[in-house]
Amino acid sequence: MFHWNLEKIRELEALPEAEAAERIRALRRSYGKEVCLLAHFYQRKAITELADFVGDSFGLSQSAAHFQGGKYIVFAGVRFMAESAAILCRPEQVVLHPDPEAGCPMADMASQEEVQRAWSVIAGGKPPIPVTYMNSTADIKAFCGEHGGTICTSSNAAKTFEWAFAQSDRIFFLPDEHLGRNTALKYGIDSEDIAVWDPQKPDGGEPERYADAKVILWRGYCPVHQKFTARDVDHVRTFYPKAKIVVHPECPTDVVQKADAVGSTDFIRKYVAASQPGDQIFIGTEINMIQTLQAQYPDRMVSKLHRSLCLTMYQITMGRLLYTLENLESFPRVEVPESVRHYSRVALDRMLSLQA
Ligand code: SF4
Repeated sequence: MFHWNLEKIRELEALPEAEAAERIRALRRSYGKEVCLLAHFYQRKAITELADFVGDSFGLSQSAAHFQGGKYIVFAGVRFMAESAAILCRPEQVVLHPDPEAGCPMADMASQEEVQRAWSVIAGGKPPIPVTYMNSTADIKAFCGEHGGTICTSSNAAKTFEWAFAQSDRIFFLPDEHLGRNTALKYGIDSEDIAVWDPQKPDGGEPERYADAKVILWRGYCPVHQKFTARDVDHVRTFYPKAKIVVHPECPTDVVQKADAVGSTDFIRKYVAASQPGDQIFIGTEINMIQTLQAQYPDRMVSKLHRSLCLTMYQITMGRLLYTLENLESFPRVEVPESVRHYSRVALDRMLSLQA
């Protein structure tokens, strides 16, 4: 049983950043290719600078599985990402998550029990195809795999809708209401044909609509992207009329509809990279990613639409990372039960076959 030495963690977290970085680098050198460090785009800059790969959750899991060596995958991100890496990695690899308490609030808005309850109501007659966003727990991914559904990312959501509508005339999308609605509208679904299942209400809130709705959305949201408003966009348009605004599709629909461009974290990164010196770009996503882009492109104005921090991503500190590396062999592994792994893998493989 691993003993979490909280005093030691606090001591490491109090180290100056440069010293912590140097100690992490020294440990990485001593482990060589045994350790693969992955960092999500939303991690603080000091961590992304140390990583072997920086990316979105799915891209990172794939990178880990293809990394030569890499027995230990240290995942600087939130829990569902570390779980996905544990599902996708090779059998000889293990995944370590520096802070197992760092979950994603949106993923945690859909529990297996809640989803089963909703399913028992909406799956009468011809069941919908369940589609879950990558930002969901392994249990929910497995639920979709077991019920003929799949997983989508913010980059392939529209393609996933196309696949799902070829199987059924209804989709059950979870856990992000905004991504689901933005994708459905982009796909051409009328807003009248979209219903919402609210897990806080015993009957889901719209019981008379579930039988006919083409898309049933889970009422979940990302607290980071939910904060952006249409007023933020109007404000930028007033004071920076030449600026371009790019936002993540987890933002509310009125924000997405007012933006110049919408896309995943990787899309946003490429959007900034393709801009020209002197351009003005306002971004609606997590602040750490924006700060990293600002440092990379000092010759253009890269700015935030609004300051929004993912608190649980921020729980991964340099001290926690150092603590993980110092205790590599005994540090608890991310475990996914076999039945959950099996059906999650079924759903993930369906998603991958769509990308092929
Ligand atoms: S940014 Fe949103 S979706 Fe991503 S981990 Fe944080 S709360 Fe979850």
